[in-house]
Amino acid sequence: MPFEIVTIPCLQDNYAFLLHSTESGETAVIDVPEAGPILAALSERGWQLSEIWITHHHWDHVDGVADLKDATGAKVIGAASDAHRLPPLNHAVKDGETYRFAGAGVQVLDVSGHTVGHIAYYVADAGAVFTADSLMALGCGRLFEGTPDQMWNSLSKLAALPPGTIVCSGHEYTANNAKFALTIESDNPALISRVGAIETARAAGQPTVPSTLANELATNPFLRAHLPNVKAALNMKDAADAEVFGEIRRRKDAF
Ligand code: ZN
Ligand code: FE
Repeated sequence: MPFEIVTIPCLQDNYAFLLHSTESGETAVIDVPEAGPILAALSERGWQLSEIWITHHHWDHVDGVADLKDATGAKVIGAASDAHRLPPLNHAVKDGETYRFAGAGVQVLDVSGHTVGHIAYYVADAGAVFTADSLMALGCGRLFEGTPDQMWNSLSKLAALPPGTIVCSGHEYTANNAKFALTIESDNPALISRVGAIETARAAGQPTVPSTLANELATNPFLRAHLPNVKAALNMKDAADAEVFGEIRRRKDAF
């Protein structure tokens, strides 16, 4: 099914995404840090917004929802479990459910950890997952509300998607994530070459988001906590995967 994805820089270092069906003409936006850049991206292309999909309650992902809804009349979708602290929803969705958009299935995945109630949207027909502050390019969101167990479980669900999946995450934090990743796996050749590509992209003012799941699996330390070489590097050979993940997350918080 033909879909087009547009990455829209917002605020300081946030990203929103348009998902546009070239067949039906319908367009969804994933997260609304601010309405202006999204309205500009829509009018540049002559697209009409049909839906707003919210990933989690943080202000830098929802602040523009009311303005964007007023301007477009788009319907707002978000997690039922978080409805009490999200902008008003037209459609509240639950973990594991699949709803239809432009003839495609959109699978809702609970990816709690950064917040409890954070969801990701997986659109198999677009080959894309919208992860915001759960799985990020070479990183993952800080654990503001959830536990390491919860986040490890959330990341494991995302890691099980097809490796070719495009990972559309919420921030341009990749250069800093790269420096940290090298402290965990300084001798990972895939990581070393990705760090070079990130430096080149940032020097040219290019975004490093989206990435692919295959690239994240090969280089993102937060997806690699189960690997014997990573456990050994942290002197945690016999520790459980989620514990190793928790240690990597603690180190990143202090980095
Ligand atoms: Zn957040
Ligand atoms: Fe955020």
